[in-house]
Amino acid sequence: MTQPISATDRESACFFHTYKRLPLEVDRGEGVYIFGKDGIRYLDMFAGLAVNALGYAHPKLLAAIGEQSAKYIHLSNYFLQEPQIRLAELLVKHTGFSKVFFCNSGTEATEAAIKVVRKWGKPLGKNEIVSFTHAFHGRTMGALSIMDREKYRDGYEPFLDNCFVVEYNEVAALERIVNEKTAAVFIECIQGEGGISSISPEFARAISSLQEKHGFLLVADEIQSGLGRTGTVFGFEHFGLKPDLVTIAKPLGGGLPLGAILGGPKVANVLSPGVHGTTFGGNPVACAAGIVVLEEIFERGIIQNAVERGKELHEAFHSLKTEFPSLITEVRGYGLMAGLNLSRDGEEIVTVMRDTHHILINCTAGTVLRFLPPLIITTDHITQTINALRETFHAL
Ligand SMILES: *Cc1c(COP(=O)(O)O)cnc(C)c1O
Repeated sequence: MTQPISATDRESACFFHTYKRLPLEVDRGEGVYIFGKDGIRYLDMFAGLAVNALGYAHPKLLAAIGEQSAKYIHLSNYFLQEPQIRLAELLVKHTGFSKVFFCNSGTEATEAAIKVVRKWGKPLGKNEIVSFTHAFHGRTMGALSIMDREKYRDGYEPFLDNCFVVEYNEVAALERIVNEKTAAVFIECIQGEGGISSISPEFARAISSLQEKHGFLLVADEIQSGLGRTGTVFGFEHFGLKPDLVTIAKPLGGGLPLGAILGGPKVANVLSPGVHGTTFGGNPVACAAGIVVLEEIFERGIIQNAVERGKELHEAFHSLKTEFPSLITEVRGYGLMAGLNLSRDGEEIVTVMRDTHHILINCTAGTVLRFLPPLIITTDHITQTINALRETFHAL
């Protein structure tokens, strides 16, 4: 008898092999849960890598997507589109930035920010870009040009000129590199892929005073940390920074592809008709979903839930650290962007959490267990996760 061909084999036959897929076939999602084709319900503590902030199958999100789809799924950006305008107004209202450009993804937001920086700096003779080690800004050639990790860059050389990567959190190194020709400093204040590591208060102060002194644009990558995840609108607020440009994406479109850059007064007039654009960017269905995401997070209390559940999660992590002092070396992150740095590889723990406890977590930078739950999680979900971690750690 011949076996039916598995999805794994079918994928392997016809895909470029860019992803290491999980051995879990999903049937559907609901709230904070994923239901596998194996009949098992999994608690999703990484939410499509911070995309599914409102969880799965959120009724308002489904309604907004349905209603907008019936009106028009796509118009070209030659047309004024009400969902785009409304979403931009909400972004301006809740972020304090004054200008918005919509694109389709995080890396496109990075790319747009690099272009704004170049256009802004050209007449001022500023054409250098400074960024930091271990950061992740995306996969396009522009994004890779401002990153350092070989894992992402190897083989894609040559990159953009005049890009300098400085050691994260090294004040002296930053002071040596920044000068009058610096057009921008790109920073991920809480590094997601890099292991949930944050900038130090001293580093934040150094950035602010250099920004004042040299007048470069500060660009905050808030693609993973933005829009309420850390308990504030943006991650940079924890450090008192004042960026001129912000990139956002992951949760923005409620799971549909949508990214944006947000700009303050210094860059408000840099772009003019035709100098930048996209066919799909600001897709009306994605924007209709984005309106629901922003309304729920900022106007219906979800950000408050992120604050409170984030506090519970961090408190529980600190007690776990006391219970397992040789295993957990550091509790990292803010709000519902949290990490446990371990003294060992984390992948095996991710597997046990999935297969034994039916809880989905992620491991990044080798030793960091990463938690990016939907912002709608409850205390019970946190308790369940902590108990499962405790059991898993005991069994190691
Ligand atoms: C995911 C991510 C990106 C890239 O976003 P894509 O939508 O995958 O292109 C950039 N920066 C940060 C901080 C991210 O987490």
